[in-house]
Amino acid sequence: MFCPKCGSQSSDNTVFCAYCGTRISKREQVANVQSQKHPGEGSAVASLVCGILGFCTVPIILSIIAIVQGDKAKKLGYTGGMATAGTVLGWTGLILGIIGIIFIIIYIIILGILVSNGLLG
Ligand SMILES: [Zn+2]
Repeated sequence: MFCPKCGSQSSDNTVFCAYCGTRISKREQVANVQSQKHPGEGSAVASLVCGILGFCTVPIILSIIAIVQGDKAKKLGYTGGMATAGTVLGWTGLILGIIGIIFIIIYIIILGILVSNGLLG
């Protein structure tokens, strides 16, 4: 390759120009591009998976993870719809989970009242 500063030719494996010392390696730039190809995509996928699982398994815990991961993905610069979908699913799962728990508590209270009044058994 040729040095961009002084134009002298160096071997392709050289990191610095032998004549002027300018950094000419392309290796680092390529690595940076590859690592930033999909910023936050891992978090977006995690958010979506937790958001979906939050509906059918452990609602509140997985829903919170979905919201946190979706937010992280956006902070890392991920702009795809997966992060938004994960966050929305997370919030929906969280609200449904809380409503579900409230209903269970009400059910237990009603059951307790009925049992204590001798209406059941
Ligand atoms: Zn040079």
